[in-house]
Amino acid sequence: MSSGKVYKQVIEKYRLAGAIACTGCKYCIECPVGIEIPKIFMMYNQHKNGTKFRDWQFTMAYEQIPEDHRADKCINCGLCKTKCPQKLDIPNLLKEVDALYKSLK
Ligand code: SF4
Ligand code: SF4
Repeated sequence: MSSGKVYKQVIEKYRLAGAIACTGCKYCIECPVGIEIPKIFMMYNQHKNGTKFRDWQFTMAYEQIPEDHRADKCINCGLCKTKCPQKLDIPNLLKEVDALYKSLK
């Protein structure tokens, strides 16, 4: 199977699991307020998949991110959306992560 096909299957698996289809490519890291987008989405997915992060593990890992760079500091400028090859609605997905974090506190 070609690597492109494998890649597409992985993305599809993410979507089906309700996880965020972020590949960690980091094209979005020019966020003006320094939101750690790929890291935040990776944590969310690890919690969503239930494989690595249980609730307390997600909370503990998330709190390692400096407060100024967490999901709730997004100012919705939209820059990241223009960079993301997956065309993710990053500001709204960050709201989901923030809601998860606050629901576990
Ligand atoms: S929309 Fe939010 S996460 Fe995206 S670049 Fe702007 S401030 Fe950063
Ligand atoms: S650009 Fe998109 S796919 Fe790449 S790391 Fe950022 S959110 Fe993830």
